[in-house]
Amino acid sequence: MIKLTDLYEFMEGSFDYLLVLDGAERAIHASDLFGRDCLPDKWWEQKPELRDLVTDTSLQNFRSAMALARAGSRAITVFSPCRESSKSIPLKGSYLPTTEHGEVFLFFGQTLEGLARRSASGKEDRVKELACLYRVIEWIEVSPSIDSFFTELPRYLSQGMLYPEEVVIYSVYEAKEYGQKPSSKNYISVGLVVGDRQKGEIRAGYLDEEHEQLPEEQKMLKEIGRALSFALERKEFKDRLALKQEEEAEFNRRLENLEREIAGRTRELEEQREKLGVVNSYLDRVSDGWEEARGRLETMFKAIPDEVVLIDKNRRIVMTNREDIEAGGHCYESIFGRERPCEDCRLARILSKKTPLTISMKQEDKYFQVHALPVYNKEHEVDGILEFYRDVTLEKTYEQQLQQADKLASLGQLVSGIGHEINNPNQFIRGNIRIIKQALDDMLPIIDDFYGQHAELKIARLDYDFFRKHIMTLVSDMAHGSERIKTIVEGLRKFARKDEGLLVDKVDINTLVEASARLVHNEVHKRADIKLDLTRNLPAFVGNTQKIEQVLINLIVNAGQAMPDDKKGTVHIRTRGEDGHVVVEVEDNGYGMSENTLRQIFDPFFTTKRAKGGTGLGLAIAYRIIEEHKGNISVGSEIGVGTKFTIKIPAGKDTEPAGEENK
Ligand code: ADP
Ligand code: MG
Repeated sequence: MIKLTDLYEFMEGSFDYLLVLDGAERAIHASDLFGRDCLPDKWWEQKPELRDLVTDTSLQNFRSAMALARAGSRAITVFSPCRESSKSIPLKGSYLPTTEHGEVFLFFGQTLEGLARRSASGKEDRVKELACLYRVIEWIEVSPSIDSFFTELPRYLSQGMLYPEEVVIYSVYEAKEYGQKPSSKNYISVGLVVGDRQKGEIRAGYLDEEHEQLPEEQKMLKEIGRALSFALERKEFKDRLALKQEEEAEFNRRLENLEREIAGRTRELEEQREKLGVVNSYLDRVSDGWEEARGRLETMFKAIPDEVVLIDKNRRIVMTNREDIEAGGHCYESIFGRERPCEDCRLARILSKKTPLTISMKQEDKYFQVHALPVYNKEHEVDGILEFYRDVTLEKTYEQQLQQADKLASLGQLVSGIGHEINNPNQFIRGNIRIIKQALDDMLPIIDDFYGQHAELKIARLDYDFFRKHIMTLVSDMAHGSERIKTIVEGLRKFARKDEGLLVDKVDINTLVEASARLVHNEVHKRADIKLDLTRNLPAFVGNTQKIEQVLINLIVNAGQAMPDDKKGTVHIRTRGEDGHVVVEVEDNGYGMSENTLRQIFDPFFTTKRAKGGTGLGLAIAYRIIEEHKGNISVGSEIGVGTKFTIKIPAGKDTEPAGEENK
């Protein structure tokens, strides 16, 4: 804010006029000379209203000048005091928007004294005036910026005014002598500097056209103008440079901050990397451990004696320890050789029930127990199944054999008792039949004679002729029946009594096969040829020659009996050695057996030939005997193709090959 008192002080002793009006058109100050020349006795201090100080015409002039000054334009008016109508003083108006009195209007005028002094001192004073302009240039240099220069300019100069677009500077003279009175003719306005802030252009000159400028003065002014514009330009450039430097400093500060931040971040990153290193090495250890665990798992997986298959829910094999199966294929294709999923698919059952499943299954000749478990994923949903296939063929065979042995053992006990009970009365019957037959042989000729004399003779209510014709057949039927009972009972005894006949012979199987074949030749040769295929130098085993022979005979006879009536078959007998065992095969190409028959053939009394006199004991006994020899007997048969019995008997390690003496 411009302090007007400073200006007043500065104007003290000036020989220029100054009248200051406030916004309400009241005189708030008048310079000493103005008061003396135009407003004597300070009457303006009692009546400061402009309309009381000037004529009506002058008031109009003042108002338009004030409006112009307020709008920033050049404002010139004429002061005609209302008390001394002879006076008419030209004034130049300026406007200050903010002062301690609010807005004010300054009206300057040149006194005659000023004019006189100027004319007297001439050039010298002008130089002073110009020196003042030089100071302006200096101020430009020291002011912090062009903006502040223009804002502060009036304060620096005190006598200067600031218009929005122009700077007006009045020079100041010391009033040493004065006498002349100012008039419209000798009015003079001195040093004036005008700068266009927008264009950065400085103009310098005199307002008053009437004033005569000295050539040096003009030259100086030109120079000053140039110097001013140069100073302003330089200032502006400096400002810009300062701005740039400020920007640069700011930029550098930011750069520094950024660098600091980067350093911080780098440190952080370094720390993180260190941590990551720890994590990585941990992960490495974990993955090593995992690799190891995986290896162990794989070894374990392969070592499981059961076949293990891991199947996903799309029936794809994920993992298996079976070497014949590749992972990736469908289970029903790879395991079962089917084109479509099995009807009793375990996966489907486990997916729906979510519980483990154990089933028995037969595939080709083998029996399996399959144990299937659900496999869960992270979400606890069944994701697939793990199947364990245990080959239980051997167990199954043992089980069957055990069952068979059990059955036979209990039967054995039963029949050995019954055998005695039957055998004793049967011996009476047989003995008695012989006596009855002899008796009949003796009696019949006598009865024949008697019949000759008594034609009506009846015996056992039968006509004698009929009786005579059939009685011997009846008796021989009885004899046959009783013979049959004897055979059966003997068979039963053989079957039941294990200990009968010690196992002490050194058995050469080939010799026995040949002997048995000879023995049954009569019975078999009509229906079948017997072909022998014997491996020589088989080891002998310790056993009972007769019993083994009985087994062979049973098998060969059965084979012969299995031949269809219309075709002569072949019974093929082979011997061979097989890992410490002696093996005999009796194979026929007869009518074979159904599954149902096959299951029962080793049961005592099971026969399909009862009508033809079969007892159903042959194979039961054979089984018993082979069992006694710690061997086993097995059978394979197909209807319409034939049957093959295989006997396997262990040959002791110390037993030598059967020698000549056994033949
Ligand atoms: P049997 O000969 O008195 O009937 P086995 O114990 O010797 O009694 O035989 C039992 C049953 O086994 C026979 O009835 C027959 O059905 C069957 N069988 C035995 N061997 C053969 C074979 N080689 N071919 C077909 N069936 C056989
Ligand atoms: Mg038989």
